[in-house]
Amino acid sequence: MAESPTIGVLALQGAFVEHATMLRGLGVDVREVRLPAQLRGLAGLVIPGGESTTIGKLLVAYELLAPLRELIAAGLPVFGTCAGMILLAKDIGGLEQPLLATMDLRVRRNAFGRQLQSFEADLRVPVLGERPLRAVFIRAPVVEAVGLGVEVLGWLDDGRIVAARQGRLLVTAFHPELTDDDRLHRYFLEQVVGLGHGEKRALTHAFASGDRPL
Ligand code: GLN
Repeated sequence: MAESPTIGVLALQGAFVEHATMLRGLGVDVREVRLPAQLRGLAGLVIPGGESTTIGKLLVAYELLAPLRELIAAGLPVFGTCAGMILLAKDIGGLEQPLLATMDLRVRRNAFGRQLQSFEADLRVPVLGERPLRAVFIRAPVVEAVGLGVEVLGWLDDGRIVAARQGRLLVTAFHPELTDDDRLHRYFLEQVVGLGHGEKRALTHAFASGDRPL
């Protein structure tokens, strides 16, 4: 009676379509989430980039903030990118905005200044293998400090932290859904959500092709 796992993509604002497309390409079912009832039965959730203040206010208005916090406390795997990372962080330097505040991170919003609002960079992300990860940053935050349980996964050349994981929470300061490199989404599905064989068609194929990211 096994149903194929469904990954939710929070679809209140921001780059949710691109995440959904990338996840579908990896063979999982995707559900856009706008209402509390749509949180039911998810194997994992992506919180996309966009504007964290807007997404936060909409989380409150749609009565998603409290149930989502509870699900995260109960172990729901979440992948937060850019604004999604800001929403997951416990500390954003005292700014007043609604947050999920579930991950031991100190994050600074719009960390790259006005001159460099958007840029691309090659990152070292050892859990994805040797090949650098091309990453798109758009008015991006940066991780300024991490708590004890947080594993740093990716850095810019200057050492600034732009990807991290704490248990079932995975975050990036950049937009992995805007390139065609799907290794981080695969990492999320395999290592964070823990999808096994038979639950993922395209992922299984990727193993067979020898392109396994780990
Ligand atoms: N600057 C945005 C914020 O502070 C994040 C930008 C993004 O998600 N691309 O919420």
